[in-house]
Amino acid sequence: MRILTFIAPLLGSRKMTKLQGHEEEALGDAVAWCVANGGCYADPNDPKLYGHAPFALEPFPFPRAEYDRVVALQPAFGRLVDCVARDAAWLEETLKETAASDEFTRKLLELRRETDAKGLKQTCSLGLLRSDYMLDAPGSNAEDGSGRALQVELNTIASSFGCLSTVISGLHSYIAQKYEGASNGVLPPNKAKDGLCAGLAAAHAEFLRQFPSSDVPRRVAMVVQPGERNQMDQRMLEHGLWEGHGVDLRRVTLLDVEENEGKLIFGEGDDKWEASVVYFRAGYAPDDYASDKEWQARAVIEESKAIKCPTVAYQLAGTKKVQQALAAPGVIEKWLPDDAESLRGVFAGLYSLDVADGASVDAIVAEAIDNPAKFVCKPQREGGGNNLYGDELKESLMKFSPQERAAYVLMDRIQPPSKTATLVRGGESIVGACVCELGIYGTILTNGEGATIFENTPGHLLRQKSLGVDEGGVAAGFACLSSPALV
Ligand code: ADP
Ligand code: MG
Ligand code: MG
Repeated sequence: MRILTFIAPLLGSRKMTKLQGHEEEALGDAVAWCVANGGCYADPNDPKLYGHAPFALEPFPFPRAEYDRVVALQPAFGRLVDCVARDAAWLEETLKETAASDEFTRKLLELRRETDAKGLKQTCSLGLLRSDYMLDAPGSNAEDGSGRALQVELNTIASSFGCLSTVISGLHSYIAQKYEGASNGVLPPNKAKDGLCAGLAAAHAEFLRQFPSSDVPRRVAMVVQPGERNQMDQRMLEHGLWEGHGVDLRRVTLLDVEENEGKLIFGEGDDKWEASVVYFRAGYAPDDYASDKEWQARAVIEESKAIKCPTVAYQLAGTKKVQQALAAPGVIEKWLPDDAESLRGVFAGLYSLDVADGASVDAIVAEAIDNPAKFVCKPQREGGGNNLYGDELKESLMKFSPQERAAYVLMDRIQPPSKTATLVRGGESIVGACVCELGIYGTILTNGEGATIFENTPGHLLRQKSLGVDEGGVAAGFACLSSPALV
């Protein structure tokens, strides 16, 4: 920015306007830029109508050292997911009690087991991952705030917003060049969209290498939810894959699938095509499986030759229960002894609620009931809006049977620093205290024996939400898209 300010007059460029006093003008510019560059979100009542995606007018300050640290950790998190996913015995043991109390986890675990028993037709896995962090703020109401980034969760299925976050990084760069005072830090480059496309393209290329001939075209199948509001984020991957790699991606639902000798066939008659890669942007929530038919379709996909993003095992490796189990001392060492300490350095306190963990569970539950504001209680769900906080956490923990409790994990509540910021939704701005959550994207394509065929750490997502809002999630209506300004 400083360089731009210096060279702009030499280039005869436009003089910068001060943001202060010109907020309305900046808001209009920002909404226009956002829409002009595809930062769009579908109308809740009509998925064919688009408005701008909710965004923060300015980037959120984030300490450079913590940003660099979590970016550097991402490849190891990718390898960890792959190791965990391949360790069937460990997954079974870790998820045993959770599966007994939670039908969704149980069905996924059964599907993994059955597919294994039949023999894998495809050993490669693709992960498009996003590891999310909040800052543990010194001086906030956490007594021992360290100022370090702590992992909120590691998403292994339908990690969304890679494309919209790339747009928002561009938006903040534009606003910072036009308005003086719109960013007080350095905006790091964000290649999330290109990097995710490169991961999908690498998996497609691997499939063609394995199966060079076919009588029908091969394409990437993106499994989507009907009426998806975040369709533009998905469409940009579709366009990027075509423009950058010449790979065709088609949107399908779970029920569109048909199987033929391990091949996944979609379409009718002359329009038939085979899926090389199945990329799930649905299938992470019980609602995505309205009947047994959807589960059967998931099984057909899992058992097919197509490369899955993710496999059921990768999905299970991203559960909150696995996150909690990995945080216990000495566990990561089983697979990644050299990375264990640095990975654990971003873990918040996580506590098992398994009956088998006995007295320590009773002690932590009693502490959480006494001090609900210090904890978050998490079920094995994705997509936001599922966690328990405050009074609800307290009442639930008082009411749950020990078996019911085992469907959840407890986590220390991270208390991030807040800053006054402007959030923009539906063209209207709201100014207030906000906190942020940083997500780091990473892709990993592995061969099923621990070898990595392709990996990258291309970019990030920063979401901002009003202070005092418990949940996150842009899609769930809690957060706005933003970007980090490194300070
Ligand atoms: P999901 O898979 O549904 O996104 P998360 O674990 O990310 O589940 O939780 C949803 C949101 O709840 C997060 O985006 C964050 O805003 C909030 N949250 C989750 N864990 C914590 C925590 N330990 N401390 C503070 N807030 C949290
Ligand atoms: Mg998640
Ligand atoms: Mg999350």
